Amino acid sequence: MDELEGGIRRVTLPLPTRPGHVHAYLLPGDEGWTLVDTGVGLPDAKETWSAALDEAGGRVATIFVTHFHPDHVGAAADLHELTGAPVWQGVLDYAQCELVWGNPAWSERLRDWFHLHGTPADVTAELVGQSSVYRPFIRYQRDPILVEAGEHVDGWALVAAPGHADGQLCLLKDGVLIAADHLLGRITPTVGLWPASRADPLGDYLAALDRTIELAPRVALPGHGEVIEDPTARARELQEHHRLRLEETVEALEAGRKTGFELSFDLFGANLQPAGRRFAVAETLSHAERLVHEDRAFRHEDGGTVTYTAA
Ligand SMILES: [Zn+2]
Repeated sequence: MDELEGGIRRVTLPLPTRPGHVHAYLLPGDEGWTLVDTGVGLPDAKETWSAALDEAGGRVATIFVTHFHPDHVGAAADLHELTGAPVWQGVLDYAQCELVWGNPAWSERLRDWFHLHGTPADVTAELVGQSSVYRPFIRYQRDPILVEAGEHVDGWALVAAPGHADGQLCLLKDGVLIAADHLLGRITPTVGLWPASRADPLGDYLAALDRTIELAPRVALPGHGEVIEDPTARARELQEHHRLRLEETVEALEAGRKTGFELSFDLFGANLQPAGRRFAVAETLSHAERLVHEDRAFRHEDGGTVTYTAA
């Protein structure tokens, strides 16, 4: 555990897949800690947390989940059992959490969706199989306290940060942004189009980065990697990254009509493991859809397959 400014503690938890770790944060308050994000609900999650909380001392007053991805929500129910503290989660984020993790038919929906975007059946089976790896380790808390951007948790303002996850919420106080996966230092947060996600996640993300720049936090504490000392500069870098990616996407489409699956080879290359390809296709689609919203590309749907062309 690391002690950061303002008495904030950072708890680094293991992640079986890349990037190999996830950070949770303990924010000090009058009633006790606000614990932000939980790690994956691995079989020993309770023991790991029990040791970390012993080291931190004091009680946990609130458990806050920034977004429903496995490494952030996975051990929420374990932590609730361990501490008795209520779990708080965003309204939209919890709806998506239930849709994905509370829904046995989700894998089928994912399969249909990859098929719609031109993924061959054998590849789809691999992609969807891989995406179920975490399913047994997601113990989200049912019926959490639902909150929205603009509300406060123990003096921290909740800030909407859609893009990486539609309903992701960051926390902001005294220039400190608890950024979850909205801003990461060396990694580019994935921004994908998924079934039942909002129509234009990359548009949402670029606008959320604009808001980050306006809010101008002094420092950002991300879900992975080191403290971000210049969040505004990092937000600008991420916008530039996507601007270049959008240009590459237009170029690839100028060569001819493509499905999201085909286009992912232009943008991410041919050598990807199934998990990599899954994110590559979703990320490619968020770029293609942004171009459609900017009138720089067209989406076509015929014969049960979606394709894109340059405008
Ligand atoms: Zn995430």
